[in-house]
Amino acid sequence: MPFDLLDGQQNLLIDGQRVAPASGRYFDTVNPATEQVVARVAEADAEDVDRAVRSSRAALEGAWGQMRAADRGRLLLKFADAIRGAQDELVELESLDSGKPVSAIRRQDMPAVLDTLAYYAGLADKINGQVIPVRGDALTYTVREPLGVVGAIVPWNFPLMIGMWKIAPALACGCTVVLKPAEITPMTALRLGELALQAGLPPGVLNVVPGFGKVAGAALVDHPDVDKVTFTGSPAVGRQILRGAAGNLKRVTLELGGKSANIIFPDADLDAAVKAAGSGIFFNSGQVCSAGSRILVHEAVYDEVVERLAARAAAIRIGDPRQPGTAMGPLVSEVQMNRVLDYIDVGRQEGASLVTGGGRIGEEGYFVSPTVFANVGHDMRISQEEIFGPVAAVIKFSDDADAIRIANGTRYSLAAGVWSGDMVRVHRFVRKLKAGTVWVNTFGPTDVRLPWGGSRDSGFGREHGDMAIENFTEPKVVWINTGL
Ligand code: NAD
Repeated sequence: MPFDLLDGQQNLLIDGQRVAPASGRYFDTVNPATEQVVARVAEADAEDVDRAVRSSRAALEGAWGQMRAADRGRLLLKFADAIRGAQDELVELESLDSGKPVSAIRRQDMPAVLDTLAYYAGLADKINGQVIPVRGDALTYTVREPLGVVGAIVPWNFPLMIGMWKIAPALACGCTVVLKPAEITPMTALRLGELALQAGLPPGVLNVVPGFGKVAGAALVDHPDVDKVTFTGSPAVGRQILRGAAGNLKRVTLELGGKSANIIFPDADLDAAVKAAGSGIFFNSGQVCSAGSRILVHEAVYDEVVERLAARAAAIRIGDPRQPGTAMGPLVSEVQMNRVLDYIDVGRQEGASLVTGGGRIGEEGYFVSPTVFANVGHDMRISQEEIFGPVAAVIKFSDDADAIRIANGTRYSLAAGVWSGDMVRVHRFVRKLKAGTVWVNTFGPTDVRLPWGGSRDSGFGREHGDMAIENFTEPKVVWINTGL
C-alpha cells in the first residue's frame, strides 16, 4: 500500500503488518525546514521490540532461512527495483524528514542505496567456505552460516543510505533484521520496510521499529535473542551499546564519530583543494561523520586558503531543501541547531577568528550559515570535539611533523585527506595518518566495495565490501572422519 503522507499516523512494521505500538504512544516527526509536523509516528517500546525480534527469528527459521542463496539475491534485486520505482516518493520523504536538499538525495543518497543493494544481491550466492586439509584420514572444511537476527540502529544524517548499508549485507548473508531508525528521521525506514514486502521478501525478514534510543534502541541491544547489533551513531551511545550487548555477548559493529583532518600543502592544486575542503565540511550541512571539519593549511598558503574557503562558504545556496537549486538545507533539528550555535559561541570565546557565517539564518527552520573559523588552535574545543554542523576550523601548520601531530591529535580516527603534488610526502602521510580512510587529492568519496569505519572513538569493525561476510555470518568447521 502506498505511503500516504497525509494520513498522519505511522505505525510500526512488524511481521508484514503495520501495527499500533503496545503503549499506544506516538511522537511527532518534524520538517526541519519549516518546523511543521510531518507525521505522528508509533513509539516502539520493549514489548514491540520483543515482538519484532520474535518475528525476525521465525522468518530466519522459516522461509528466509530455507531459501537458496541465489533466490535471496534475486529478491534483493527485486527490492532494488521496488526502491527505484518509489524513488521520487523516497526522495521527498527523506527531504521532508531530514531537511536534506532533494538534489543531494538524488545525486548521492539514492544511487548509493541502489548500488549497495545491487552489490550485496550479487554477493548473496558467493559466500563460500574453505576446504582446509589437516590430515589424511579426514575431510575438513568450513561453511559460513547466517549469524542470526540483527539489530540495526541508525542515525539521522543519512537515514536511507546508512540503513541500506546495514540491511543489504545482513540480508545477503541470510540474516533477518530489526531496523531502529533515528527518532528524528523514521519515515523512509518504514517505507523501505514496505517496499521489501512489496518486492516479495517474506514477513519478518525486515521489521522496522521507530522509537527512542533509550527505549526501543536499548531494548534491541538488551534483547537476548538478538545475535548482532550494527550501530552508527555517537561515541557516547556506542559505549552504552557495548555495555548492553554484554548480556548475551552479542556481536557489535560500531561506526561512530569523527573530526577528520583535511591537510593542504602549497604544492597542491589549490582550486581543487579549496573546492573539496568546502564540500568536505558543508555537504549535508556538515552533518557527516567523515566531514573534513579540521582544515589544516600550510602557513605559506594559509591566508589565501582561508579567504577562498570563506568566499565559497558565503556563496552556498541555502534554503528550501525541496527546491532543485538548493545546495544546503537546515540542520536536522532544533537540538542540533542549538548545539552547533553553542559551538560557534565557544569558538568565539576561545579566541578563534570568525571569518564568515556564525549564526542562525531566519526564524523559521533550523538554518545555520556556513561558518569558517581561522586561527584555530589545535587544543581549542572547536578543533577537538565533533560539532556535526557547517563549521570549519582552519588550522595553520608549519611542517610535515606539525601536520601529522595535529591531524592525529584527537580522539577520533575515521578519515583524513592530504593534498600535495609530492608523492613521497603523500605516501609518508598515508603511512602516518591514523584513519580508516585516507583520501589523497580528493576528499569524501566512499564506495560500498571499500571497507568503511574507524578506530578509537570512531568505533571498530568495518562495513562494506566482503567485510560483511565476517560481520553477518558465523564460520562452522566440519570434520569428517574418512579413515573408518
Ligand atoms: P546517536 O548516537 O544519538 O543516535 C544514533 C541512534 O542510536 C539513533 O537511532 C538513536 O535512537 C539510537 N540510540 C540512542 N541512544 C541509544 C541507546 N541508549 N541504546 C540504543 N540505541 C540508542 O547519534 P545521532 O545524533 O543520531 O548521530 C550523530 C552521530 O553519529 C555523530 O557522532 C556522527 O559522527 C555519527 N555518525 C557516524 C557515522 C559513521 O559511519 N562512522 C555515520 C553517520 C553518523
